[in-house]
Amino acid sequence: MKIVFNKIGSTKKTFELTVSGVSLEGFLVKRGYHRVRLEGEMDGEVKLFCDRCGEEYQYDMKSPLNLTLSDEVIETEDDLDIIEFIDGIIDLEFIVQSEISSIENSFKCCEKCSEDESEFEKEF
Ligand SMILES: [Zn+2]
Repeated sequence: MKIVFNKIGSTKKTFELTVSGVSLEGFLVKRGYHRVRLEGEMDGEVKLFCDRCGEEYQYDMKSPLNLTLSDEVIETEDDLDIIEFIDGIIDLEFIVQSEISSIENSFKCCEKCSEDESEFEKEF
């Protein structure tokens, strides 16, 4: 789902899409000359492989997603939750896909291994 940056006004524009089994539902609203606010809720599950035991498991993606979008290059690093869409086209699939990728690319372990870890911490 692609939305033209300049078409977003001060009235909330709602959207809903699903990418690779993960849904994002929310709205876009203009927040300034080059700023659009995205507020939404992700839901769904992705298949991950545990970094500890290698087992495949389901990860629950349910969480709020709040981002600022801009159609210009951001020079300050004050707000790390800014995503740039320099061509003026907001690509919502890209946003959901990058949320999934950031989880896939970070260290993660299945429930069983995280339980083992908390037991380990308790013992020492
Ligand atoms: Zn594991």
